[in-house]
Amino acid sequence: LAERLQGTIQKITGKGKVTEQDVKEMMREVRMALIEADVNLKVVKEFVKKVSERAVGSEVMKSLTPGQQVIKIVQDELTELMGGEQSPIKFNSRPPTVIMMVGLQGAGKTTTTGKLANVLRKKYNRKPLLVAADVYRPAAVQQLETLGKQLALPVFSLGTDISPVEIARQALAHAKEEHLDVVIIDTAGRLHIDEALMQELKDIRALKEPDEVFLVVDAMTGQDAVNVAESFNEAVGITGVVLTKLDGDTRGGAALSIRAVTQKPIKFVGMGEKMDALESFHPERMASRILGMGDVLSLIEKAQANVDMEKAKELEEKFLTQSFTFDDFIEQIQALKKMGPLDELLKMIPGMNKMKGMDNVKVDEKQMGRIEAIIYSMTPAEKTNPEIINSSRKKRIAQGSGTSIQEVNRLLKQFEDMKKMMKQMTGMSSGKGKKKMKL
Ligand code: GDP
Ligand code: MG
Repeated sequence: LAERLQGTIQKITGKGKVTEQDVKEMMREVRMALIEADVNLKVVKEFVKKVSERAVGSEVMKSLTPGQQVIKIVQDELTELMGGEQSPIKFNSRPPTVIMMVGLQGAGKTTTTGKLANVLRKKYNRKPLLVAADVYRPAAVQQLETLGKQLALPVFSLGTDISPVEIARQALAHAKEEHLDVVIIDTAGRLHIDEALMQELKDIRALKEPDEVFLVVDAMTGQDAVNVAESFNEAVGITGVVLTKLDGDTRGGAALSIRAVTQKPIKFVGMGEKMDALESFHPERMASRILGMGDVLSLIEKAQANVDMEKAKELEEKFLTQSFTFDDFIEQIQALKKMGPLDELLKMIPGMNKMKGMDNVKVDEKQMGRIEAIIYSMTPAEKTNPEIINSSRKKRIAQGSGTSIQEVNRLLKQFEDMKKMMKQMTGMSSGKGKKKMKL
């Protein structure tokens, strides 16, 4: 999913003008990307419709950076699709808080029970009790006991001859006695959803209304995960979802559909087999991850708030035509000085964050004054054609600016690197040069 969307984004980032046709084409790509990622069809349709409506709206057309606006809309809507806000655990004001783990066999319930207990202790300062209520799967009880030992957390088990409901009942009493404030019940799974299992889960539920019923689903199963979620939600009722094995899932389809289909939030994601591989689910971060943009979007926002858009556009033109000179460079430095960390801003330039040579253009902010001095000591001809700066010119510039020849050399090198990068970028964002700006 990420790759395809990134390709699409690459095409429109930095476009000065986006037509309705462009938006249409982009939406076609987005639709394909989502379908390929195994996102539920209904969800895809609605998503594309929403994004299209906003994208052809005035906020984009009037913007001077419409390409970025479209991306922003896609990101917003992806975030919204996954629930918008991070959804916290609901704790009972009168302990113990009861969390029930449900799901199909192999989804990762037992593993997640351990991981969750670990999170509860570490981040929430709670005293969890792990309850082994899967009496069917061979060695399930031992599996949990082993995890408990490994984490040095208490596990409640009564072997496999006693009913899960009875185990859960006694575990609740035990937790109260021992002042353990969260009870996590690891239940049995089946290969498929069946009536007997659902009844058992309902019986456990009936003991004491759980504060959370977490459905554990395997992200790698894509659409099936969504179907499973729907069935469990209808039969037992769930309060949230834990999406496991996201470390192995590159498509991300389940993450995108589950919330939309079940209306239940994804609360955590499993990122590996180890006990510390459970993360809170942040819709916005996931959307960024899917779009492969890291924090660049927030930087774009920042820039949009700060930079003169006319100027930004002019600069972009210069990048594309590769007619960027030291005069432009110094103008940029001055504009940037108002805005914040330079290397962050460089990364913000479309495509720049992907460039290999990015590290070479890191400019120390303290150095900026010296850089300015160097550029001011150049003649107009030197600024436009730095190639002509030979060693005697370098010496003159160094003297004139009160810097050293090494510093002059470094700046020239940086400028050259930057130009090289622009060349690469131009190749990436628009096929070849400026003339062919068509998608
Ligand atoms: P259960 O039948 O639902 O209790 O599933 P288990 O907890 O026994 O997990 C089944 C398998 O999935 C085990 O091998 C786990 O190590 C593995 N697993 C669980 N969660 C994750 C995860 O987030 N990432 C990866 N890579 N493996 C996981
Ligand atoms: Mg299990």
